[in-house]
Amino acid sequence: MFDKILIANRGEIALRVIRAAREMGIKSVAVHSTADADAMHVRMADESVCIGPPSSINSYLSIPAIISACEITGAQAIHPGYGFLSENANFVQIVEDHGLTFIGPTAQHIRTMGDKITAKDTMKELGVPCVPGSDGGVPDLETAQKIGADIGYPVIIKATAGGGGKGMKVANTAADMEMAFRTARAEGKSNFGNDEVYIEKYLTTPRHIEIQVFGDGKGKAVHLGERDCSLQRRHQKVFEEAPGPSISPEERAKIGKICADAVANINYIGAGTIEFLYENGEFFFIEMNTRLQVEHPVTEAIFGVDLVREQIRVAEGLPMSFSQDDLTINGHAIEVRINAEKLPNFAPCPGRITQYHAPGGLGVRMDSALYDGYSIPPYYDSLIGKLIVHGRDRNEAIARLSRALGELIVDGVDTTVPLFHALLAEADVQSGNYNIHWLERWLDDNLAS
Ligand code: ADP
Repeated sequence: MFDKILIANRGEIALRVIRAAREMGIKSVAVHSTADADAMHVRMADESVCIGPPSSINSYLSIPAIISACEITGAQAIHPGYGFLSENANFVQIVEDHGLTFIGPTAQHIRTMGDKITAKDTMKELGVPCVPGSDGGVPDLETAQKIGADIGYPVIIKATAGGGGKGMKVANTAADMEMAFRTARAEGKSNFGNDEVYIEKYLTTPRHIEIQVFGDGKGKAVHLGERDCSLQRRHQKVFEEAPGPSISPEERAKIGKICADAVANINYIGAGTIEFLYENGEFFFIEMNTRLQVEHPVTEAIFGVDLVREQIRVAEGLPMSFSQDDLTINGHAIEVRINAEKLPNFAPCPGRITQYHAPGGLGVRMDSALYDGYSIPPYYDSLIGKLIVHGRDRNEAIARLSRALGELIVDGVDTTVPLFHALLAEADVQSGNYNIHWLERWLDDNLAS
């Protein structure tokens, strides 16, 4: 059993992990940059270590500083949260070389899934349905044009190392191909140091449906249904729900089993998410995330499980505490991502919080590292909180979300809360009738400046 774990992250996700550890009787070590000396995760952890200056490259991404913090404090394992080093195979290798445990998948699984081309090849072999497209990387424009003509426009050109919505360009017609191909390559190179790209059919009305999987690393794995994360801005999720309003129990059981079998087959350990586009009753794999996702709480709400606790258990070599038969869905959950951003352009809005009041009551969970007087530093992600509601059904969850948003007070900075009030008034959101392009269109029609 671990006595002490270090959390290589900040913000709400660091708190999330500290809370799970504390309930398990495990001590927690927070790491922080100088900009985060007053952050909530530092206050809430049992111990803390300053690991560098504000820029994440020299702090939250500094592998030597994080390993040293483990050595100084005697932490035996590292939870990476999401973002930062969570999907860095090199980091996992170094953690293990120092006799520490990485709470997450193996370096090899992270490497395989981190490259979207190898991920797609692996999933195809494991029987997971994929978006039609190029067989692997596309070396030059001529080949790209040929593939575009073969699969038919529109197509999307994606950087194999891409992530966070970067390194993806759509070509609606053959005339767009040259520009899209060059831009995707250039973005891949500048953001991820890899200019390899591949091509997929661009689906015009899909939903984004992702399956939560969990493996014990010894050939056993389960699925915890889907999350619908179709409401996106610039390929980034803003509103997530589970179960998906368009997915039947039969479809869930079928795609869920395909995913659980696939990860069992590769002895996957810990939490993972297999992302699909879903159109006309068909699922098409797009990528696998080998970490805990931002939106994991909606799954926790409907299944009544603690995914972080489970991650820590399997990292300790313990069996999973549930089997597929133990997992039944109870009600409906929705999460909204509250960012310190100014509408209509979503410009980051760091600054001092003059007043903070979190909503409460039945079925309400607020995961946030805010407090009265806290100053949001300008150096990191603009996510300042996640509001998760759980109801007996979707209508109840929607009414609860509206009520809880009304109770939330975040004064001093602009936030995306007004966006959610407006979205909840939309008939399509109320009925669950949306696809991945719905929000962009709505923003153009309603918020364009
Ligand atoms: P990232 O790693 O940057 O998150 P993904 O491959 O997961 O990239 O895709 C992110 C989003 O981009 C998807 O949720 C979807 O909205 C859009 N997208 C990706 N592939 C396609 C496709 N083939 N057709 C239409 N939209 C796509």
